[in-house]
Amino acid sequence: RAIERDLVRIEEQDPTIVSDGTSNVELDPTVFEKRFLKKFRDLGEGHFGKVELCLYDPRSDRTGELVAVKSLKSENNGVETSNLQREINTMRELYHENIVKYKGLCTEEGGKTFKLIMEYLPMGSLKDYLPRNKHQIDHNKLLLYAIQICQGMDYLGSQNYIHRDLAARNVLVESEGMVKIGDFGLTKSIKDNEGYYRVKEEQESPVFWYAPECLVHCKFYRASDVWSFGVTLYELMTYCETKKSPPAMFSEMIGRSQGQMTVTRLVTVLEEGRRLPRPTDCPEMVYTQMRRCWEQAPDHRIDFKGLIRVFQTLLS
Ligand code: ADP
Ligand code: MG
Repeated sequence: RAIERDLVRIEEQDPTIVSDGTSNVELDPTVFEKRFLKKFRDLGEGHFGKVELCLYDPRSDRTGELVAVKSLKSENNGVETSNLQREINTMRELYHENIVKYKGLCTEEGGKTFKLIMEYLPMGSLKDYLPRNKHQIDHNKLLLYAIQICQGMDYLGSQNYIHRDLAARNVLVESEGMVKIGDFGLTKSIKDNEGYYRVKEEQESPVFWYAPECLVHCKFYRASDVWSFGVTLYELMTYCETKKSPPAMFSEMIGRSQGQMTVTRLVTVLEEGRRLPRPTDCPEMVYTQMRRCWEQAPDHRIDFKGLIRVFQTLLS
């Protein structure tokens, strides 16, 4: 009673603290207002999206926080808008220390366009970070990153998602000892499916990271993410050296080609059992794990839990 009376008195003195439920924008911490977002610089871009570093500064005194903001490159394309919408819906359901944190969204023009707001990782992606910091990163660090990626992926799978774009460019560095999976732009839910997702829209796919069943039947299983992890592990062990990159190495194997021809030739060499080579200085046991990710049949491949176990024994 006394508390209620006090509350009423306080509210009368300062009406702005009263919530009537209509002013969500100020109360919902996941709603970012466009007018308070100040762009600093570009962080990177992919096929559809671009990511910018911004300061979110609602008090306009530069005390705000740095955030990474993802938006579409070309506005108002229906398919891509719904892709970003789906990416936002996926990210906001994921809570894991090896997955980039969703912070909220910023809507514009009455909800017609929007941006994804996520935590900012100043060290960028593994693809930027590894070539520059080669000298301070030994094989144990690389194995630690591999374990962390597998832990994030195992969690993703437990939530019935398939990532479909696992690659070094989509793994972000939090600190020298910690990485997180980002870019859920191609991620699909397999809740209503039979353990795989079939893609309909034919887009620019990261074919050199794709398993045979993805290239041939457009079917994506959890084990297809394991294949892509194997390619990502290959990238780690080469420190993302451009000359040794999966596109460069496979192009050497199949010759220069474009479009569907590339896919056809790639499928052929994979069916012949040819694979990316063991990177220079890569321990035999680590290469063995890549090969177990690259078994032709999805159900012959190792899974993320199995990989974590092996890497942990290699570390200790
Ligand atoms: P796309 O779907 O266009 O590939 P990504 O989400 O992969 O977009 O982001 C593109 C690039 O932007 C990444 O490779 C990375 O270099 C940078 N980037 C993305 N998110 C962040 C972030 N949260 N912090 C720092 N850099 C980021
Ligand atoms: Mg990307």
